[in-house]
Amino acid sequence: CGIVGILGKHEVAPQLVEALRRLEYRGYDSAGIATVNQGRLGRRRAVGKLVNLSDLLVHDPLAGKSGIGHTRWATHGAATVANAHPHQAGRVAVVHNGIIENFRELRQDLTAAGYGFESETDTETVANLLRSHLDRGLDPVDATRETLGRLHGAFALCFLFEGEEDLMIAARKGSPLAIGHGTGEMFVGSDAIALAPLTDRITYLEEGDWAVLTRAGVTIRDAAGRLANRAVTQIALDA
Ligand code: GLU
Repeated sequence: CGIVGILGKHEVAPQLVEALRRLEYRGYDSAGIATVNQGRLGRRRAVGKLVNLSDLLVHDPLAGKSGIGHTRWATHGAATVANAHPHQAGRVAVVHNGIIENFRELRQDLTAAGYGFESETDTETVANLLRSHLDRGLDPVDATRETLGRLHGAFALCFLFEGEEDLMIAARKGSPLAIGHGTGEMFVGSDAIALAPLTDRITYLEEGDWAVLTRAGVTIRDAAGRLANRAVTQIALDA
């Protein structure tokens, strides 16, 4: 299972699929990507090997220079298209590795508040929780802060927002996540290998960190919400 995110200069769909290919060694049962294009979120998801996703993209391309991608190793809900990531709720799309331990309780609260669900995953709860905070007027950064504060478990998350082509938010708790620095581009990956063709300048998030990315750079906060200074390291990897 793996996560990638790109705020790029070029069409990201092929880049996302290539980065996911580099994470195939981790194993997965389905895959998907989402982009923001002309303000609109779009998704493509497929069960099985990545070639199924890339075939789908040939017949039904997905434009956009900002995107997130995922390979899923199902923990909650069967390996179906409806359960494949990215999950979307309103203006939010999310990819997630790991498990949200308290998703049943959160899902109950959200259902009671009128939010609907299309999948059996723990992940869709995160999308809907973030959506609920946007709905009450919070901006994406504050809504993410509120959302992360409610989640129990071990996870890596990456969010994309409708109407925001220069924004991506990533969070790490118990599941590694690397930030890649480009020139006028920024990247997120489960590991540096996924990003090797894109950049060799990497910042590893520490436990509890969450990162707000634009093409100009990244702002990292720790679990307590304090601004955190994390080193950029130049890594040696064969692309
Ligand atoms: N728990 C999530 C799901 O079942 C994420 C699984 C993963 O790590 O890929 O959809």
